[in-house]
Amino acid sequence: MIYPPKEGFGRTARIQSMEDYQLLYRKSIERPEEFWGEMAQALTWFHPPDTILDADPDLVDFSWFGGGRLNACYNAVDRHVKANPRRPAIIWAKNEPGQYELITWRDLKHNVGRVANVLKAHGVRKGDRVCIYLPMVPELAYTMLACARIGAVHSVVFAGFSADSLRERILDSGARVLVTANEGPRGAKRVQTKAISDDAVDGLSQVQSVLVVRRTETDVPMKAGRDWWLDQEMSKHRGTCPVEWMAAEDPLFILYTSGSTGKPKGVLHTTGGYLVYSVTTHRYVFDLQPEDVHFCTADMGWITGHTYLLYGPLANGTTTVLFESIPTYPDAGRLWQVVDDVKATVLFTAPTALRAILREGDAHVKKYSRKSLRLLASAGEPINPEVWRWYHDVVGEGRCPVVDNWWQTETGGVLIAPMPGATPCKPGSATLPFFGVEPVLVDDEGRVLEGNGVSGNLCIARTWPGQARTIWGNHQRFIETYYSRFPRLYFTGDGCRRDEDGYYWITGRVDDVLNVSGHRLGTAEVESALVAHESVAEAAVVGIPHDLKGTGVCAFVTLKPEHLDASKEQMMGALKEQVRHVIGPIATPDQVRIVSGLPKTRSGKILRRMLRKIACGETQDLGDTSTLAEPSVLDELLQQQSQLQ
Ligand code: ATP
Ligand code: MG
Repeated sequence: MIYPPKEGFGRTARIQSMEDYQLLYRKSIERPEEFWGEMAQALTWFHPPDTILDADPDLVDFSWFGGGRLNACYNAVDRHVKANPRRPAIIWAKNEPGQYELITWRDLKHNVGRVANVLKAHGVRKGDRVCIYLPMVPELAYTMLACARIGAVHSVVFAGFSADSLRERILDSGARVLVTANEGPRGAKRVQTKAISDDAVDGLSQVQSVLVVRRTETDVPMKAGRDWWLDQEMSKHRGTCPVEWMAAEDPLFILYTSGSTGKPKGVLHTTGGYLVYSVTTHRYVFDLQPEDVHFCTADMGWITGHTYLLYGPLANGTTTVLFESIPTYPDAGRLWQVVDDVKATVLFTAPTALRAILREGDAHVKKYSRKSLRLLASAGEPINPEVWRWYHDVVGEGRCPVVDNWWQTETGGVLIAPMPGATPCKPGSATLPFFGVEPVLVDDEGRVLEGNGVSGNLCIARTWPGQARTIWGNHQRFIETYYSRFPRLYFTGDGCRRDEDGYYWITGRVDDVLNVSGHRLGTAEVESALVAHESVAEAAVVGIPHDLKGTGVCAFVTLKPEHLDASKEQMMGALKEQVRHVIGPIATPDQVRIVSGLPKTRSGKILRRMLRKIACGETQDLGDTSTLAEPSVLDELLQQQSQLQ
């Protein structure tokens, strides 16, 4: 089924028709320098760029907006202080329901300036890295922007990572200053961020200062000469701090990928291109309107937090919501409660959150009005069509466009997404490329697949401003990871189908593709068939060795609470039948395993590589388990596997 654009929405939308989209898309592809030169004018430049693009594809070297000088913090903060004095820049939704704090543009500038002065006093200079290990508190935004202000490179590490993971990232980035908190309330838990930080930097002479945010009353041990309370340090400094005018290609931040496919990579983004791409995608993909209150639930530890919670909205002068809690605390109604309280107009979340809420039933949603919402967005994983329709019908009551947007840490911003006022949507498809983006599908031999109705490896043919420039300290790894499989094409690692209408459907990671009796099956399609069954909450599908087919299909599923008592035998039969019915006999699972939880990265993505190892009996070597959010789910999976063997 195709969902046409909403009539009322289209009338005020930035892109109102497919003709408008195609016109602008063609321009962005045919005259990219003109297009991006115009988009760059949305920013305030100290010195405008002399050139737009300077690329050397052989050396995998891309430079955007050469000669331009700008500052990301100035663009995100200073220039809005006069224009929007009374509007909040940030609405902080604290962990406990009903508790909010409004931070105006003026407050923001003042606090960012003070933190910037603290960093300088602790020896941070232009080009130095600062590691940030903080819960979702305002100081997190202040510190990132303070780094940008003085030209330091921030490296935010999600405050749910272990001490070892944090240490590894501190060592890799060479940060000498770490910013953390005494502890971090998150749902019913309190993350011991300071204790974890202590373990991470124990015996590490590299780290000279640890700045500690006082989030709660809890006292923590402070090491004299190394640890400093940030509030005390801030009180020593005034809020005025001059901005450093950075070259467009100067680094802005390092961010490690989620680690779904292996050891995380320290992706480097630069100032000009990243910021131009952030404001442009934020404006069109979320159809920015002047009164928007933008609620992105992502943690700042992920790229979505960087681009669509902080830099994109703030640089566009939009009020952004900083959500400290989780979507299921204290219950599955939390997001809608925040939406009503802050009058959010845009909600941007991930399929993992939607599935967790959906399984608890619609009553949690319907309890709240959600009237302020005008647009719903999702990214991070393929969204199962069933979940898309629920998001559209139940959450948005059919009023709001659903914007499923595909992208990666490395892409800086959205690459494939509908134009909310113009693009007819098909649930499960991220639809069409963003301006300046040229997706290419290639087969395993590297042959480009022309035309529609094809599927293969998703690559991007040309650079775009938001593209990561390198992997921190290891350009060779950058070339090998993204540019060696298919020469001169950026390889995303994702499989994709371009349907008869030219719409893009992410089929899953190419490493996870199942080759069943010579047929290639993407994980997304089989999983969505399972999730479409009324009793299934989540599903993950992996390949297992099979004598006849080469690869067999093994499905791991979790059930909705009201179906937990069903007979396992019957359920397994019903789910096999479900896949056979929806996709065909070829995809019928050989095994269905009912479990109570799936292994996920800390950003909520299903770790199929781990499930595959378990299902194949390779339980001794599960690979990098440090990215696993809840190590306890492994126990059940391993136990089940040992019973099967
Ligand atoms: P690593 O690269 O370390 O394995 P990761 O790929 O999970 O980790 P991210 O950059 O956070 O790290 O995730 C990007 C990936 O998420 C994409 O390559 C894609 O597989 C998936 N993804 C993101 N958005 C969507 C979407 N809208 N539809 C389908 N898949 C998506
Ligand atoms: Mg990746």
